[in-house]
This record gives sequence, C-alpha cells and structure tokens, in this order.
Amino acid sequence: MALQAPEGTRDLLPDESRFWSHFKQTAADVFGRYGYLPIETPMFEQTELFVRGIGEATDVVSKEMFQAISGENMKKLLAGESIKSKSRLSLRPEGTAGVVRAVVQHDLVPQGAPPVKLMYAGPMFRAERPQKGRYRQFNQIGVECLGAEDPTTDAEVIIMLMRFFTAIGIPETSMRLLVNSMGCDECRPIYRERVRTYMEEHASELCDECMRRAEINPLRAFDCKNPSCSAVMDAAPKITDYLCDECKEHYAAVKSLLDGAGIEYTQDTRLVRGLDYYTRTVFEVQVIDGLGSQNAIGGGGRYDKLAEEVGGRATSGLGFALGYERCLLALQAAGFELPSAGRCDLFIACVDDSMRAAAFGLLQMARDAGLVCEMDHQGRSLKSQFKLADKLGALRVAILGPDELAAGKLKIRDMATRREALVDLEAAKKLLAHFSGLPFGGKVPKIEDVFPMGDEE
Ligand code: AMP
Repeated sequence: MALQAPEGTRDLLPDESRFWSHFKQTAADVFGRYGYLPIETPMFEQTELFVRGIGEATDVVSKEMFQAISGENMKKLLAGESIKSKSRLSLRPEGTAGVVRAVVQHDLVPQGAPPVKLMYAGPMFRAERPQKGRYRQFNQIGVECLGAEDPTTDAEVIIMLMRFFTAIGIPETSMRLLVNSMGCDECRPIYRERVRTYMEEHASELCDECMRRAEINPLRAFDCKNPSCSAVMDAAPKITDYLCDECKEHYAAVKSLLDGAGIEYTQDTRLVRGLDYYTRTVFEVQVIDGLGSQNAIGGGGRYDKLAEEVGGRATSGLGFALGYERCLLALQAAGFELPSAGRCDLFIACVDDSMRAAAFGLLQMARDAGLVCEMDHQGRSLKSQFKLADKLGALRVAILGPDELAAGKLKIRDMATRREALVDLEAAKKLLAHFSGLPFGGKVPKIEDVFPMGDEE
C-alpha cells in the first residue's frame, strides 16, 4: 500500500496552501496596524521551557508533547543512560513559551522600554487523539505583547483578534467571544483551594480524572466534558467572586473598553483555558455552529508571570493564538469555497511543433519580466492548448504560427472577450527585456501593456 501522511497530520495541497498564505498576509496587514512585527522561533525547544512555562500538570505538557530526540541520545536512553537536560527537546505545542523565551534571551523589553509586539505563524505539535478540527500538527497564528499591564492592551489584543476573523470572512454573527478573569498570584490560590474543597465535597459525582485534577490542578475540572462533572462544576464557586480589588478593577476596565469599541462578549466564569500561565484576562472565540466540540477558533490571555518562569525579570505580557484549520472549517461551514487555480497572465500556444523553440524563448522572457506564464509541455493539439489555457485561467493567449512569425507578428487572444489582435513581436520583446532588467519582484508589467489588443483586429 502507498504510504500515507502520519495520523493527525494534513497535507496543505496548493489551493489550501495558498489560502494559508492569504491568512498569514491578512494577519500581517491587520496586526501590522497595531504595531506587531514578525518573529520566528525554533519548532523545538528545551522540554524544560514548556514544563516551566506551560506547567507540568497541564494536559499539553503531561501527555501531549512530542519529544524530539537525536538518534544518539535515543540510543543512550534505550541503554538506560541519562542525557543532559539541554538535550531533552520537545516539538513546540504552542508558540507563547518560545516567543517569551526569545524576548528574555534577547532582552527585547529593556527596563523602561515601550512594549514589544510580536506575531508568529507556523505549525504546532500535540499528540492529541485526532478528530475533525483536532490534529497532531496544526497551524497557528499568534501575537504576544510584552511589557504592558494596562487594560488597553488586553482590549486591543481582543479587538485585533475579532478584526482578523471578520477580515478573513467569518461572519460576526457566527462567532461568540467569551471572556473571564483568572485573577493573580494574590487571589487565585485562595480561589483554587475553594474549588478543591468544593470538589472534595462532591467527590461521589465527579469522575476519577477530575478527582486526580482536584489534587494537582483543580481548575482543569472546568474543562471536563463528562455531563455529571460538568453539572457539578457549573455550580462551583466562581472566580469573579474571589478576585482581589486590583484584578476586579483591571477586569472591569477591559470590559468597559470592549463595550466602548462595540465588541460583544459573554462573561464565562468557567473559562480557565488549558495552560497554567494565564493571569487576569482570558478569552476564547468559538464558532456557534458547524464545528462540534472543537469549536474554539482562537483564544489567549494575560500571562504576567511567564517571563519570570522562564528566567527573565518580571515582565507583564499577553497574547493569543488562533487555529488555521479550525478557521478554515468555520469558513467552509459558512459556505465559503477555497479559491482554485493561481494567477496566469499569459499562455503561449503553438500552431505546430516547429514553433515550440520560439514559444519557449518567449515564455522565459515573459517570466523574467515578472509575468506568470505557461505553455504546453505534452504535445497537445491547438484546441486542447486553448482548453488548458482556460483551465489555468489565463488572461491572454499568444498564438505562435509560422506565417505570423515570418511577418514579425504574434496573434493575441483575450480570453475574457475572445477578441484577437496582432501585435508586433519585436516591440513586445523590447518591453519584456526592459522589465526583466529590474530587480526580482519589483515593478511587473501589465499583460495589456506588453500584448495590447489595440484596434488591429
Ligand atoms: P490553544 O493554544 O490551546 O489556546 O489553542 C489556540 C487555538 O489553536 C485553538 O482555539 C484552536 O483553534 C487551535 N488548536 C489548538 N489545538 C489544536 C489541535 N490539536 N488541532 C487543531 N487546532 C488546534
């Protein structure tokens, strides 16, 4: 049997891959308006970064990380030898820890400096049980803002996320924004203990996994999908009743800024998010229909302790990540179809085989000038060359025939209007040569300038 892609992974075939590029471009445009600049961090990091940053007791770290071990180290481990801590590597399960590590390592927020605003896009890896909308390698686009504590940054980041979703075409009415505050070092531990006691009081109604969670990380029980656990946790004490005055004030300010910006949201006191590093504001965007249980298309929050966890000085921060695959599913649920076929400015057709060398030469000149061009490489008839040009969405077809060539002319057909014209071959070549002298990706000629339809029908 032919080999398949590994379970839980997807090939982004060209149409989808172009769409992923469109997502990244839209993110750069939208987030760029807010001052975000791109950063790329490695796809694997020391395992310790994720253990310290995300938290050992989280599902992501305790069971979903893919270890990245060199062959040599694998041999050592199999032989029962130990390997150095810095050789223990994991594929990144999310982007925040790596970005914060880079910010600390390169001191991107020196004392007194303005906040640093960074964005990234790329694959993340989690050994989750694959299902629709849940993959083992998936693509995220995320932003991180470090060095600002003010509620305006929380509101800004949430507004930006919603703007991105509408920019790519997810209808506003099909999304739900949930917000919550998770408190800080002062108030959360008190709340966590209160939830633990509550869970112990309801031990008989909770699953074993939740009771295990009660020991190490009781707030995780809010994510349990078991109906009995869910009912118990619905009636659990609410974080909002335990927030300290400063957290209360911060949360109220974020909500009031969102109100002022006309952003609709629902307060969800059960929203605790899966990673340990969040403090204060957390948020999640879900699509209302079509994605089943994997309905979260993006989410994030504030993480004022994370920089210290990874060895830096105290630096507030916040950010979000959105999932490309789920956004695509949401768009498809809203009736969206992937755009097919790339751009094709010109197709060069040959009347007979004797024209192939001339066609090939012209093709290269046009490509060097910046036009997207194609010719037939399979010896098709003229009729089927036109069919191919149509399929490629060619704007114009240049038809090379012996008689025209002898007269220094070239027949051009506009594929939209089906009109034909004769153009002067030397003039067209001169123009192409002019453009090919310019730097790659610089000014590109318009097809109608090089091969004008004119009136010479
Ligand atoms: P998280 O890093 O868990 O906060 O996830 C942020 C976003 O990434 C989610 O809202 C999803 O859209 C997406 N995401 C998370 N895990 C997966 C997965 N296993 N497969 C596909 N998308 C995911």
